[in-house]
Parts: sequence; structure tokens; C-alpha cells
Amino acid sequence: MGDLTKKEVDVLIVGGGPAGMSAALYLGRARKRVLVIDAGEPRHRVSKGVHNFLTREGISPDELRQIAWSQMKAYPSVERTEGYVESAEQTATGWRVRTREGGVWEGRALLLAVGVIDHHPTIRGYSERWGESIHHCPYCHGWEMKERPLAVLASGKPAQHLAPLLRGWSDDVILLTNGEALDAEDEEVLQRYKIPIYRSPVVSLEGPGSRLQTISLEDGTSLAREGLFVAGKQSLPTWVSLLGMDVTEEGYIRVDMMQKTNLPMLWAAGDCTSRMQQVLEAAAQGGRAGAIINATLTLSH
Ligand SMILES: Cc1cc2nc3c(=O)[nH]c(=O)nc-3n(C[C@H](O)[C@H](O)[C@H](O)COP(=O)(O)OP(=O)(O)OC[C@H]3O[C@@H](n4cnc5c(N)ncnc54)[C@H](O)[C@@H]3O)c2cc1C
Repeated sequence: MGDLTKKEVDVLIVGGGPAGMSAALYLGRARKRVLVIDAGEPRHRVSKGVHNFLTREGISPDELRQIAWSQMKAYPSVERTEGYVESAEQTATGWRVRTREGGVWEGRALLLAVGVIDHHPTIRGYSERWGESIHHCPYCHGWEMKERPLAVLASGKPAQHLAPLLRGWSDDVILLTNGEALDAEDEEVLQRYKIPIYRSPVVSLEGPGSRLQTISLEDGTSLAREGLFVAGKQSLPTWVSLLGMDVTEEGYIRVDMMQKTNLPMLWAAGDCTSRMQQVLEAAAQGGRAGAIINATLTLSH
């Protein structure tokens, strides 16, 4: 696209996951000049298959992305570039972003589709099992773990929610608080659902390859488990937090029904806007943002 030599487009999209790609598709079909800047590390890259995506059940994250970009070729005003955006600033005509690799790009509108950063516990044997026998979302991988002995690693409200919910997939669910305290309400809920609680810190996760067989606790307890579900903390990239937009109580970017933030010509879509994190949901939000950005740009002249 010729205009990219001037490093100016109609819409800059930061993040090329389901949210960013879906927005690009809407905007490309609406004949807007779009640049998607993507670091290429979607959250579900460790996953073998995407579930709950109607007509695409079990497709690999890589294949989903390849299909999306191959179909995007029909819309030549959409470009993508690899890079990690590390700052954004408002200009007189829109937004300017800079990448770690030295790229500077300007657009009349900016869409943040950056996903979230997952903060994992530092437990021996954790990283090689993440996405295989360790999961965070029962809707994504509860089926694959059904009727097996499961553990939930969580405390507070997430423990109250996730451990009882998993009883829908397995009768054998225990809670590991990893040394964190539970309050009286947490205890009452977990007792009501007859969830055994183990409070000692988790020392290691063991089993062949990426499978889980045993969870060892600091107090010497050894637990035979085949699946672990975690309710880990998440955050936005620091540079996004520094833009000064409103955030929700849980720390996600606050958007209205049209994915608009409170800052001018700035939209956000996908995981970065809420804990309701699913591929279809992210794609739907991206599409909505794309449509509204297009309307805003087209009707503002
Ligand atoms: C292990 C795992 C399994 C999952 N399984 C399922 C499932 O089966 N079904 C389902 O519906 N959902 C699943 N999910 C959730 C799903 O992956 C997310 O909801 C979805 O990917 C969100 O899309 P997104 O576009 O908002 O973010 P992402 O997919 O995370 O994409 C964000 C993109 O932005 C890029 N990016 C981030 N910061 C920058 C930056 N500063 N500059 C440039 N690029 C940047 C990233 O590299 C990435 O490519 C799973 C999640 C995980 C972690």
C-alpha cells in the first residue's frame, strides 16, 4: 500500500489476535487503510486447539491465524507488520505509535487489541504443562479434563467460583490455596460444594512430559491429580496503562457498547477489555470496533 511509505494510515491496530484481525477485516472491506502491528504472541499460542468457536471446533491457533490472513489478502488496504509497540501518543490528527524496533506510525484512529499479560505462579514443573494439563478456562478445556481428578489453584473470589464450577466436569475437585488465606465466606461456599481445601504452598508438579500426575505440597502432602485449573492474575502492558484511559475495577480497559474508550479516537477490543475472554468474543468485539471506527471516520468529513 503506497501510503505506508508516509507511515500514515486511517486506522492503526495494535495486536493481531482474533480481536485485531477481525477489526482489520471489517475495516479492509470498508476500504480504510489499516496497519496491524503485531508482536505475534497470542495468549493461546500454547494451546493445541481452539474450542467453542462455532464451525472451527479444535482448530489450532496457528491455522486460525493463517486462514484469517490469507482471506485478508482480498482487501489490499490492510497491511500488517511485525513489531512490539511500546508507546502511543495523541497528535493533532489522531495517534502516533512507536515500536521497539524503531517504527513510527500515524493513524487517524487507534484500536488497542493487545490481549493481556498472564502472570503465572513460579512452581517447578508449571511452565511445561501450561496449556496441556494446566488450564485457566473450563469452557475452553473442561471437556478435555472431564471425569478426571482435578485441582484448582486459587484463593478468594476466583476460588469460590472456579472450584465449584468445575464440579460440572468432574466429581473429584480439590482446592489448593498455595499458602494464601481464605475468608469466612470463601470457606462457607467451598464447604457447601464439599470441595477439600489444601493450604500448604505448592512445591512442584510432576508427571511424564506435559502430563500431570502428582502435585507436591510444602508440608509433604502428595496429591494424585491429572489436571490443574488456575485463576491467575492478569495485567495490561505498562505503556497501555500509562495512556491514562479509564479502567474497570478489575483493571481492564473500560469501553462503552461500541468498544470506545474515554480518550479521543481510541478504541479497544478483546481480552484487554474484560475477563470474559474467548476467541469468538474477541473477534466479535474487534468487528464491532471496526464498524464503529469506520463510521466515525467516514461520517466525520
Ligand atoms: C492456553 C489458552 C487456551 C485458550 N483456549 C481457548 C479456547 O479453546 N477457546 C476460546 O474461545 N478461547 C480460548 N482462550 C482465550 C483466547 O485465546 C483469547 O480470548 C483470545 O485469544 C483473545 O484475543 P485477543 O485478540 O484479544 O488477544 P490475543 O489473542 O492475546 O492477541 C493479542 C495480540 O497482540 C499482540 N500484542 C500484544 N501487545 C502488543 C504490542 N505492544 N505491540 C504489538 N503487538 C502486541 C500479541 O503478540 C498478540 O498477537 C485460551 C487462552 C489461553 C491462554
